[in-house]
Amino acid sequence: MIRPIRIREHEKFQGIYVVEFEDGSQRLATASLAPGVKVYDEMLIPFENKELRTWNPYRSKLAGAILKGIELNPIKPGTKVLYLGVASGTTPSHVSDIIGPSGILYGVEFAPRVMREFVEKVAKYRKNVIPLLADARFPAKYAHIVELVDVVYADIAQPFQAKYVADNADFFLKQGGHIMMAIKAMSIDVTAAPSETYKKEISHLEERGYKVKDVKHLEPYDEAHAFVIAEKT
Ligand code: SAM
Repeated sequence: MIRPIRIREHEKFQGIYVVEFEDGSQRLATASLAPGVKVYDEMLIPFENKELRTWNPYRSKLAGAILKGIELNPIKPGTKVLYLGVASGTTPSHVSDIIGPSGILYGVEFAPRVMREFVEKVAKYRKNVIPLLADARFPAKYAHIVELVDVVYADIAQPFQAKYVADNADFFLKQGGHIMMAIKAMSIDVTAAPSETYKKEISHLEERGYKVKDVKHLEPYDEAHAFVIAEKT
């Protein structure tokens, strides 16, 4: 196993680390809120009084977007996040690490089997995670639980995703808060070129009054995926 030789905080983003290994490679990492617990195949690395978890950009679109150079990352210590499409928790576990004990992650997932895995691997060990077995297309159904948040993060790979994301952001996002959305072109329209699908999804956010601040293509980490950050102005 290759060994880490140097660790530093990320130059732009709080709560994120960069680990350098003896072979010259570098990986992102976050400080675990649940030391000793692995969520996927990440490496656990002791550092000062913490345990870092390496963060794989091929498994997590947020890590890919950071490596592709997003300028803005509104997910930081203390952030409240509504996360649509938590699946078994790979990216949400790193978001939970970053926001720390003063942040909160409301995690929405509609597939019961996957949600069970999320609870077993992530929510059970992390006090800042609230799992919600619910359909993100119907935000009114969880409006009695979710409070106003700083970030609506969406990775539901659904046709009309931008519409559902804007519906959630209309309900739950604070003024000045941000949408972070992964667009999987092939889930939205298999017949259209990816760039057309991105344009359509982005225009929809704009028509709904959200100001698009950044768009990054996620290749080589994810083919035909884009990552969009927009603000509620
Ligand atoms: N965000 C996860 C990560 O990075 O670790 C991966 C999410 S996976 C690409 C998409 C997930 O969204 C699936 O688990 C799927 O069941 C869920 N999903 C799709 N449509 C949904 C909906 N309408 N409501 C809730 N969850 C949904």
